[in-house]
Amino acid sequence: YSTTHDADLVVIGAGPGGYVAAIKGAQMGMKVVSVEKEPSLGGTCLNVGCIPSKALLHNSHLYHMAKHDFKHRGIEVGNVTFDFKAMMDYKEKAVKGLTGGIGMLFQKNKVQLLRGVGSLVAPNKVEVKGEKGIEVVNTKNVILATGSEVTPFPGVQFDEKQIISSTGALALQSVPKRMLVIGAGVIGLELGSVYQRLGSDVTAIEFLTSIGGVGIDGEVAKSLQKILGKQGLKFKLGTKVLAVRKEGAVVKVDVEAAQGGNKETMECDVVLMSIGRRPYTKDLGLEKVGIALDDRGRVPVNNKFQTTVPGIYAIGDIIHGPMLAHKAEDEGVVCVEGIKGMPVHFNYDAIPSVIYTHPEVSWVGKTEEDLKKEGRAYKVGKFPYIANSRAKTNSETDGFVKVLSDKATDIILGTHIIGPGSGEIINEAVLAQEYGASAEDVARVCHAHPTCAEALREANMAAYIGKPINF
Ligand code: FAD
Ligand code: NAD
Repeated sequence: YSTTHDADLVVIGAGPGGYVAAIKGAQMGMKVVSVEKEPSLGGTCLNVGCIPSKALLHNSHLYHMAKHDFKHRGIEVGNVTFDFKAMMDYKEKAVKGLTGGIGMLFQKNKVQLLRGVGSLVAPNKVEVKGEKGIEVVNTKNVILATGSEVTPFPGVQFDEKQIISSTGALALQSVPKRMLVIGAGVIGLELGSVYQRLGSDVTAIEFLTSIGGVGIDGEVAKSLQKILGKQGLKFKLGTKVLAVRKEGAVVKVDVEAAQGGNKETMECDVVLMSIGRRPYTKDLGLEKVGIALDDRGRVPVNNKFQTTVPGIYAIGDIIHGPMLAHKAEDEGVVCVEGIKGMPVHFNYDAIPSVIYTHPEVSWVGKTEEDLKKEGRAYKVGKFPYIANSRAKTNSETDGFVKVLSDKATDIILGTHIIGPGSGEIINEAVLAQEYGASAEDVARVCHAHPTCAEALREANMAAYIGKPINF
């Protein structure tokens, strides 16, 4: 080995799960080594996920507003155009600013960073293969936080130019004329929206008969489909993709109805494959320490994030639960607290989901479909944004808030929001749910006027007493 290090904790992977765990460990007095194979810190989320996609979503939305919406608000801007390269440069700057910030946080908290591929050679020994050769760290604990990768489609090779994953979609050189999106889940809807706003003719092909991916409430999914449809996004639901092939500059996609039926060939310039992600555990040396993956390729852990091997823990996209950055971060924090002997509490019923389309969609807790399946008696409180004064003033009236609470106790079981400010407002619903609030509790909290969050209060009022004030 070129160098030998000693540590209390080695964290493999510096995405949202790993970098947060490393900082927390150092803050709790541990000697922490973070291992990352990519030159830039922050993992999928900061480099090719949450952050670049939100930069493009925000700026394509502003462009779309300026082009199609400003005039009726009394704003004259003349002929609005966009510079795609400048938009991409802006996105790059947003990414660099945040990934660089993690390096500074590591320095401030005295987390030692080793650059290279980390792998387990024994329960208390991690090898790091990097430019400096092979280093080794002897450690008391290891947290695995190696994240996820795009789920491949059988027989389809990504060239990231014509046949692209989300990573290619965040780095295109120009706006394609025609784009097909395979999978109308979170990535398909977000990145499909970006290119549709910038002028692409976008059709999303989806195997299921509804959009939005896993966990979305059925009524919200229908409403979202209608709103995005009005914006110009097209959907081909209940449709199975058979093959994707390149013919020169054109990509052809063979499809058939999921229930069986006529086959058809669709054409585009670029096809975005977004059918999900899978855990990434390549080169991690799991077999050397005797950790076996489950049937979905995940690392099995107990409710303290302990794997089957003492001293080895796992968090984030490589374990069970939704593949979300904030879920990975929070697991990182409580996992480290557990290592230090503190109690480990993580409530999977109180993790928010947000789809950053316009309007945004967000939810926490159970859907109506979940509650029906469980046979649980529940109340529904709904409030439409058309009756919210701020939304009306801003001409952003599409959507509604729906609160589901227990019929007997009024305790909130789920909140679903489609409409302006949804991705921010949901955090209030998460707080309420985490603390076991009833719909009445939220309804009795004074909310600032005029804000879109008042719609959440009114929906809670509707759930608790049957009637909101303003509708
Ligand atoms: P990752 O972020 O994947 O990080 C894992 C890290 O480990 C990587 O840096 C990798 O290089 C490194 N690594 C892997 N193996 C090794 C090894 N052997 N040695 C050293 N290093 C290794 N989530 C949200 O909550 N909100 C969003 O808006 C959102 N948008 C997204 C948009 C897109 C296009 C995509 C693809 C994902 C998005 N996600 C979003 C999901 C989010 O990115 C992930 O849930 C999150 O990054 C998971 O964090 P993680 O730490 O588990 O893994
Ligand atoms: P997803 O699971 O959200 O959606 C995949 C969609 O593809 C589903 O609707 C599924 O029914 C469909 N599908 C699967 N196989 C298909 C096939 N053969 N043909 C047609 N349709 C098919 O996955 P994603 O959009 O790829 O996103 C991956 C992960 O990244 C998600 O787990 C998500 O949590 C995360 N992510 C989160 C955000 C966010 O929080 N805003 C944004 C982007 C990505």
